Amino acid sequence: MQDLKKIPQIEKILKNPIFKNTNKTILKNITIEKINNLREKIKNKENYNLESIESEIMSEYNNITLGTLKPIINATGVVLQTNLGRSIFHKNLLDEVIPLLSHYNNLEYDLKEGKRGERYDHLTSMLKAMFNVESALVVNNNAAAVLLILNTFAKDLEVIVSRGELIEIGGSFRIQEVMKSAGAKLIEVGSTNKTHLKDYKNAINEHTKIIMKAHKSNFEILGFSSEVDIKEISKLCKEFDLIDYYDLGSGYIKGIECNEPSLLEICKNPPSLLSFSGDKLFGSIQAGIILGKKDLIDKLKQNHMLRALRVDKITILLLQATLKRYITENIDEIPTINMLRKDLESLHKKAKLLHSKIPSFFNPKIIEVNSLAGGGSLPNKEFKSFGITLQIDNIKALKLERILRENYIIARIFNNKVTLDVRSIQDDEIQNLINILESIKNMRIENE
Ligand SMILES: *Cc1c(COP(=O)(O)O)cnc(C)c1O
Repeated sequence: MQDLKKIPQIEKILKNPIFKNTNKTILKNITIEKINNLREKIKNKENYNLESIESEIMSEYNNITLGTLKPIINATGVVLQTNLGRSIFHKNLLDEVIPLLSHYNNLEYDLKEGKRGERYDHLTSMLKAMFNVESALVVNNNAAAVLLILNTFAKDLEVIVSRGELIEIGGSFRIQEVMKSAGAKLIEVGSTNKTHLKDYKNAINEHTKIIMKAHKSNFEILGFSSEVDIKEISKLCKEFDLIDYYDLGSGYIKGIECNEPSLLEICKNPPSLLSFSGDKLFGSIQAGIILGKKDLIDKLKQNHMLRALRVDKITILLLQATLKRYITENIDEIPTINMLRKDLESLHKKAKLLHSKIPSFFNPKIIEVNSLAGGGSLPNKEFKSFGITLQIDNIKALKLERILRENYIIARIFNNKVTLDVRSIQDDEIQNLINILESIKNMRIENE
């Protein structure tokens, strides 16, 4: 415990000239935490280092004040990654919203009547016209959409879901858990691989309110399996005066060749309610988009929970900007879709360009790889692509992967080689990627 006395006084640390141009309140708070940690370490007889305490505080200060979100080069080929922020935006969309964010706007103001307006109206008319539905509502994310719908209509009532669709997405969204939070009772029917219409029908009783279908999103059941089409569920619900609700997850609109039924297709016979994420295959900002019958959407708007789930103007603006691209067929400006529909020829061209610039120090080689949609979308669809393997003599792939990651390049290890899939690398990132590789080349890397 003698060592505790070696800890310098906080005031003394703060006087160090390296802290000259810092915010003293923040600096002090960081220092107090550092000293407390140091005390803990000494008490627990762990290793500690007093020499570097000032520089540690300084680097923590820089981390905090410079912002911890960094631009990342996604070289994994997984286009939608929740860890990497899901969908990204084309610069044109951002330019379009800047004047609306740097000035006041009529978010909740009816310019004709000179009175309070509805923030949701800005999107409703666009969504209605696009999908030919009666009404629409947008909330914070799709999890919020599920919560709001279940809470509004099925609090203290029963919701029937197929056992094959009790999904978990990204470790934090589980149908069962959302059901509980919403106060609804989950009635599971069918088996993991097969659910029939009669399973739903047999479960209906006077407490039943909703039959919910959830898109399997991040997995597929192969072999002997069957699920009930949403159209069949809608018919059954009509017969028993229940709400048919489809949690679609990704909400694919158009632009990629895949087996996924598009929203436009589904909306030819729309269920009473459906919802999907704004930042998965839709390719926009985090949001939960709800489409459906006007009387039901009006009820959702009356739920006080909506106030806690409401979206900001920035969400409304970016969703509008994305919808405009779908309407005008300007899909090149929706990067998520654009990346997923790149043809092999252009990917090969990009791989060759990148390959020609990478220093030979890395032994770059072009190989064929498979990219993925990711983000719980199109789980089994492989998108053929090209990758570049990097290898440094005597350096393990795991080590190189880590160095790249610490320099904001996220790569995959494929057949024991660090691989950069060109599909998810943006054109304007190539020069930066090369610069980073040049600087890594100049580091003295040693194996551990
Ligand atoms: C992704 C997903 C969700 C959650 O959506 P978030 O927008 O991430 O909240 C819910 N249901 C399904 C079927 C999904 O795929």
